[in-house]
Amino acid sequence: MFVDSHCHLNFPELATNMDQVRASMQANEVGHALCVSVTLDKFPEVLAIAEQYPNMYASVGVHPDYEDIQEPTVAGLVALADHPRVVAIGETGLDYFRLTGDLNWQRERFRTHIRAARTSGKPLIIHTRNAAQDTLRLMQEEGAAEIGGVMHCFTESWEVAQAAIEMGFYISFSGIVTFKNAQALKEVAQKVPLEAMLIETDSPYLAPIPFRGKTNQPAYVRHVAEEIARLREIPLSQVMESTTRNFFSLFKHAQPCS
Ligand SMILES: [Zn+2]
Ligand SMILES: [Zn+2]
Repeated sequence: MFVDSHCHLNFPELATNMDQVRASMQANEVGHALCVSVTLDKFPEVLAIAEQYPNMYASVGVHPDYEDIQEPTVAGLVALADHPRVVAIGETGLDYFRLTGDLNWQRERFRTHIRAARTSGKPLIIHTRNAAQDTLRLMQEEGAAEIGGVMHCFTESWEVAQAAIEMGFYISFSGIVTFKNAQALKEVAQKVPLEAMLIETDSPYLAPIPFRGKTNQPAYVRHVAEEIARLREIPLSQVMESTTRNFFSLFKHAQPCS
């Protein structure tokens, strides 16, 4: 079975259609999904999904794109992460594309998450956009290698991927890898070792081809896996087995269910 390592099932497009979302996962051999927090405000919704469905997990964190909201603290994140259904800290990171100006608050927030992850023993889900060098620098300065994690929805260069892998991070590919204009990313997906790879949808956004522009959902992670298998000229089953094994070895607190 596949795992969708990153989705936002509490967003209204999906939350109001959970029966269809779950049936579609099953029909596409997607066994598990990690539901990722973007604000503290909505964390209870994310946790409720993970508590209701044994094949779904939660993370806790505050996304770098949300500016005027409750700021997380290390102690606060650690306390919320101390729950059996919470398997990761994030999503966190840096985004210099959506927001501009003085983004020191983003870097401070990112540091807070790395410290919380190290304290809680749960790995990081990192979002980075137009900010690769600062992202890697902060990971280094805060000792992110000690806890590891994933560079989610990866769109950076092979050099950035290599630097992250050296720090014990996995590289997660989304539906973007199926897009015709994503040639550079397709080449990165050919180079990243299978042992360091995860797959995700980031649904409800970024639906892969042939659903581009529509509402994305965890079932469509299958199309990400199919594109990676095609690019690497390997069987789909090999992508499935590697990425699922990687998911459960990174997110140690996630118990697989049959
Ligand atoms: Zn993200
Ligand atoms: Zn996300």
